[in-house]
Amino acid sequence: MNKHKLQRVILLGPQGSGKSTQSIIIGRYLKIREISSGQILRQYLRGNSDLSRELKAYITPGLLVPDDLVIRLIVHRLKNKLYKNGFMLDGFPRNIHQAKVLDKNFKIDMVFNLQISNQEALKRLSGRLVCKHGHIWHVKHKKPKKKNICDKCGLPLYVRADDTGVAIRKRLSIYRKKTEKLLKYYKVQNKLVVFDGEKSIKKVSQDILKYLKQNA
Ligand code: AMP
Repeated sequence: MNKHKLQRVILLGPQGSGKSTQSIIIGRYLKIREISSGQILRQYLRGNSDLSRELKAYITPGLLVPDDLVIRLIVHRLKNKLYKNGFMLDGFPRNIHQAKVLDKNFKIDMVFNLQISNQEALKRLSGRLVCKHGHIWHVKHKKPKKKNICDKCGLPLYVRADDTGVAIRKRLSIYRKKTEKLLKYYKVQNKLVVFDGEKSIKKVSQDILKYLKQNA
């Protein structure tokens, strides 16, 4: 049995706000499994199927994948017994429709928002390096020990196809227009907790853990 009362948690925040790093910290503390919609979609992208071609056409230029497709891939997965103790969701929902479908299927306990400016997001995303497992590095701010090799798993690092100038701006603009509407959606449900995501990764983790120790 999970002793924590927070079992189904959502992490919101612009691209580059540190969601994937902080979701590991939160998931570990609450003993719930993290799930990243972007990471799952990128796994489908790797194949050579109709689905991978369809996904590529949205993801590479920085557009949202259509709701019906994402909902089918993510909500269905959340029903797997892997998530019976709960989940720490990163990247889903991205708009009000997705949030409503999620609410119909699960009771969401808490939503954390990592707040950062577009300027900070752009700085963090330009130069970001990732490995196939989604571990994140940066050419200037978080260099791996060995050039272009992930310290954590030894796999090659690369720049995500959507971490380029035009796609980054598109993704941030969609975030501000669509995803940010979720802040009000969850605020009126009394579920929203906001953190200053511009602090260092370590400081943000400390703020989140302090909150969890007092409230989870
Ligand atoms: P992320 O890794 O969260 O930045 O997601 C990378 C890309 O995957 C996004 O730019 C979208 O193209 C797609 N994506 C991830 N999650 C969703 C979602 N919930 N709805 C629609 N598209 C998504």
